[in-house]
Amino acid sequence: MWQTQHHSTVVIIGAGFAWLSSYIQLRKRNPDVSITLFDLRNHFTFIPSLHECLLDSDHLSSIQIDLKKYYGDDFVQAEIQTIQPEHITTVEWDVWTFDYAVIATGSRTNFFDNENFATHSYLLRRPEDTIRLNQKLTTAKHISIIWWWFTGVEVASILALRNHNAHIRLIHSQERLLHRLCPDCGIRSRKRLEKHHVELILGDRVQDIQKDHITLQSGLSLDSDVTILSSGIRINDQHHKPYLTFDWAYNSLESERIYMCGDVAIHWLYSTGHNAMSEWKRIGNLIADQLLWVQHNYKKLVNYDKLVISLGEQDWILSIWWRSIYLPWISWLFKKMIEKKIIRELRNKRFLPF
Ligand SMILES: Cc1cc2nc3c(=O)[nH]c(=O)nc-3n(C[C@H](O)[C@H](O)[C@H](O)COP(=O)(O)OP(=O)(O)OC[C@H]3O[C@@H](n4cnc5c(N)ncnc54)[C@H](O)[C@@H]3O)c2cc1C
Repeated sequence: MWQTQHHSTVVIIGAGFAWLSSYIQLRKRNPDVSITLFDLRNHFTFIPSLHECLLDSDHLSSIQIDLKKYYGDDFVQAEIQTIQPEHITTVEWDVWTFDYAVIATGSRTNFFDNENFATHSYLLRRPEDTIRLNQKLTTAKHISIIWWWFTGVEVASILALRNHNAHIRLIHSQERLLHRLCPDCGIRSRKRLEKHHVELILGDRVQDIQKDHITLQSGLSLDSDVTILSSGIRINDQHHKPYLTFDWAYNSLESERIYMCGDVAIHWLYSTGHNAMSEWKRIGNLIADQLLWVQHNYKKLVNYDKLVISLGEQDWILSIWWRSIYLPWISWLFKKMIEKKIIRELRNKRFLPF
């Protein structure tokens, strides 16, 4: 039996990068439309700076936004259990009907259904992960970082600078670090990590994780009291999968009024915060077009190909097209400016003109 029933013109599920930029775009074009934002967490967190909270828990509040404070009654803290063509239901059994819905529930770590991976590893995907990790990091003797993408380099770099008591190792399944970027990026990162005494294990995969050790596919068994894992992502489609299907477009095949974007979405863009924001602006525009009865032709969205990778506190590389430029301080300032800009935009609910 339904407990309470509500209605909102637009419901948005998931308050990450995707969700908030669409909200701003919709509000800009339709100031009076009712928009309700749902998230199971009460804060937005600038996730690309999460590694800076390692061994510095106080940093977290500077990269967060209190959603109730800034979005008032437009924000509802609730976990959505099901997303169906006509309504969504919270775990408390509140039901919301809508004219338009946007699913932006993001992704989670893929444990490949391995129970030991799920039980014994530490993650760095959500703000609460930093609290759990920091409790353990100060006393850890052997820290293993198993990571397939650039954040592994960032995590290893910052831990090497902030924790001199532990042995830190980075394990990557490919023969070179940052294998998706130009070779120079991997070489520079490698030199930097080795200079800071990080052990690099390349071309090997983790097979088992236990509380105090890990085993690799090569048979190597290594002491590891903290194993930080990011072996890939699994999209959070469990709430809508039984009821809704999507192809490579943003619309649901069952309803033209239901959209999906960000990490959860299946199209050609990589799962990054930057791409999530572009997709969301596009969806904000598509809904605003329908509400205002106008039509626009939009260009296909393309991957954003610039990346700044942290090799420590202010020591960063800029990866641009198939090149890498070592730009300490300048890249750091660039990344900080982006962080501050986005946090400011989300607090003021207005995009800055650059
Ligand atoms: C450590 C780390 C570093 C990164 N660094 C970068 C970087 O430098 N540059 C970059 O571009 N990208 C980076 N990324 C990737 C980027 O953070 C993600 O691609 C981006 O956050 C995806 O945005 P999203 O809105 O799709 O999903 P998320 O940010 O995952 O947001 C989804 C939201 O949905 C909520 N939610 C989920 N299920 C429910 C439910 N059932 N009910 C209610 N709410 C729900 C969650 O609480 C969450 O707030 C990094 C990721 C990590 C983990």
